[in-house]
Amino acid sequence: MISKEALAAFRAIGGPDGIVEDPDDIAPWLVDWRGKFSGHSAAILTPRSTAQVAAFVRCALEYEVPLVPQGGNTSMVGGATPPGDGTAIILALRHMNSIRQLDADANLAVCEAGVILSTLHDAAAAAGRRFPLSLGSKGSATIGGLISTNAGGTQVLRHGTMRAMVAGIEAVLPDGAIYDGIAALKKDNRGYDLRHLMVGAEGTLGIVTAASLRLSPAIVDRAVGWAGIASPQDALALLRLLEAEVGPVVEGFEVIAGETLGFVLDVIPGTRAPIATAAPWHALIEIDLDSAQDRGASSAAERMERALMRAQDAGLLLDAAIAASEAQAEAFWRIRESCSEAERAQGPALQFDVSVPVAAMPAFMIDAAAASEAAFPGTTAASFGHLGDGNIHFHLRAPMQDGLESAKNWLANIGPEATRFVNDKVVDMGGSISAEHGIGQMKIGELARLESPARLHALRAVKGALDPHGIMNPGKLVPLA
Ligand SMILES: Cc1cc2nc3c(=O)[nH]c(=O)nc-3n(C[C@H](O)[C@H](O)[C@H](O)COP(=O)(O)OP(=O)(O)OC[C@H]3O[C@@H](n4cnc5c(N)ncnc54)[C@H](O)[C@@H]3O)c2cc1C
Repeated sequence: MISKEALAAFRAIGGPDGIVEDPDDIAPWLVDWRGKFSGHSAAILTPRSTAQVAAFVRCALEYEVPLVPQGGNTSMVGGATPPGDGTAIILALRHMNSIRQLDADANLAVCEAGVILSTLHDAAAAAGRRFPLSLGSKGSATIGGLISTNAGGTQVLRHGTMRAMVAGIEAVLPDGAIYDGIAALKKDNRGYDLRHLMVGAEGTLGIVTAASLRLSPAIVDRAVGWAGIASPQDALALLRLLEAEVGPVVEGFEVIAGETLGFVLDVIPGTRAPIATAAPWHALIEIDLDSAQDRGASSAAERMERALMRAQDAGLLLDAAIAASEAQAEAFWRIRESCSEAERAQGPALQFDVSVPVAAMPAFMIDAAAASEAAFPGTTAASFGHLGDGNIHFHLRAPMQDGLESAKNWLANIGPEATRFVNDKVVDMGGSISAEHGIGQMKIGELARLESPARLHALRAVKGALDPHGIMNPGKLVPLA
């Protein structure tokens, strides 16, 4: 437990606005978004400035109280949940939520760590720009959390992950020093890049307090289409054909198994099949033209139509439709965004967020599903997601033949073995067991089991060098032994 002296020292730094001690106000932040992990924290530190974050970190060092950085608490891997023994304290960045500067000419926004993603979207739109990273948690996820998990989303194909959008960073390091790397330098070769080290560090190397983020021109014309296809191989061929036909304006390319689409249509009110053909696989496609593009004579929809006709001639399509209105485009996207919910309604399942080299993904989707179902009789596998990034969400549903309780028991008893089985397949294909969500506390064991000794050693060496006292986010990613 944290000593009274330590709490008094934190109180002295934070003042009445800088620390939350009411258990009712603390409680919601002690459980992760999925409800899989819970912990304890005697208080929540809520700094209002970078200097205050630094003071909290120095105090944490002095009293040997580990800190758990927290943004919107939408981590999928228990990354922002404190340990259960009450030895650590949450430091929430939510009050550091100002956009310090938005320079449309320079295409840059300087945001504090607690700015919520949708707030940045709105501010960029008001300035005729956009921040091209979006995900289901955009109403809660913060810039600090997105940076610390190197978040992806549905536009990675064209714009990259969060890493590609971070032009500069300000952070408090584990010794309490403020690292000011906020200037957006295009060229900077002064050795190790602390900016890149902080991206994806999951709060284990310091606390991100602000960042310079790259903006893009606003979209002026978009087309959203739906294609029915025979196989994941055809889906990848379709993507490559689209890219060849329309250039680097394909912004979204999501693949969904026909069975998953069926679940969405069954479970989610108001959804309708975009095409009449009952295809085994489906692709949701988005083409975006922005003000920087030469729009020439043809619209996004015309470009998509031409490309889809070429795909039809090449035998890659079973059926296709282009959204005739914004409302229809949104309805197509709603289907994709409802896949997790519809899958969840089928019963308990193991969920994997994996990547393999893009060219190998179609084979992975087919082979891993067949192998898992054969190895664990009664299970069914499904995949959907960002095929063009080589990243899919692979679900292995527990056997439901003997009812829900039995399926839950399967998850508890056989689940770990099935998890190792699927992860082994990912690693055999040269892939990653965490494409988007990070390691947090959920995947620590599997990271330690599957990571190469060289990489594990390097990760631990970096952690040990920057945070020798282990005060940053204990029990996550690569805990100090
Ligand atoms: C509905 C839903 C959809 C999602 N979709 C996607 C998706 O498509 N793609 C994707 O990549 N992810 C997705 N995620 C997970 C994703 O990791 C988070 O939504 C987001 O990146 C986390 O932001 P947050 O502010 O909630 O961070 P938190 O959950 O609070 O924290 C996440 C991690 O970052 C650390 N951290 C937080 N703030 C800071 C800081 N200022 N400095 C240092 N460390 C910090 C925490 O300690 C923790 O390790 C989704 C989550 C949900 C709930």
